[in-house]
Amino acid sequence: MSTVAELWALQTTDLAVEAARQRLTELEKQLGADAELKAARAAAAEAQAELDRCRTTQRQLDQQVKDLSTQVRAAERDLMSGRVRNPRELESMEANVAALRRRRGVLEGEALEAMLEVDQWEAELAARQGRQAAAETAHQARQGAIRREAGQRLAELKTLSARLSQQWEATPPPDRDLYKNLRSRKGGRAVAREQGGACQACGVMLPTGVLQTVHVGSQRVFCPGCGRLLLAG
Ligand SMILES: [Zn+2]
Repeated sequence: MSTVAELWALQTTDLAVEAARQRLTELEKQLGADAELKAARAAAAEAQAELDRCRTTQRQLDQQVKDLSTQVRAAERDLMSGRVRNPRELESMEANVAALRRRRGVLEGEALEAMLEVDQWEAELAARQGRQAAAETAHQARQGAIRREAGQRLAELKTLSARLSQQWEATPPPDRDLYKNLRSRKGGRAVAREQGGACQACGVMLPTGVLQTVHVGSQRVFCPGCGRLLLAG
């Protein structure tokens, strides 16, 4: 028959195995997941998209200004060529040149605004890329720490699993059944420690008779509060 202390040791290993497995699962979840980095990458990508958009607009406006200048020069040359002498027609041609110039003036203003916007987004992109780089570095450091801890936990789990199977092999089958049964019904803890006359699992104060039997240790005592096996503290 196993002693209560042996079953307590078995339970300690069991709980440590569970804790190590749980921690490994948590670490696996943390690998790759990084909200801060994701946000930094998204912010940089957004600035890049805005910058591309502004540059396209600026290029289009510059081209339109260039095209208009060509048109203005052609219209001016035509006007000066002396080809047309009719005053009405000349007036209309002058009006056309003036309209083209006005239109060019408006577009030049828009092109200037687009250029300023490009400058702003270039600065913004540089700032956001800087923040992203910092986030990438921090992320790498965190991932490294997670991998290191996962390695340690895995080694720990291996040692614990070996210990657990040794302890399990050393436990007589009836005690295994008792232990398994109690564990499944009592939230994973079959054995409770007594300390200062109280059960550490449920907190109940143990009657004097029960306490004495626990301390003599010659027979198994179950907590009258929670039903777990009691180990003298
Ligand atoms: Zn109890």
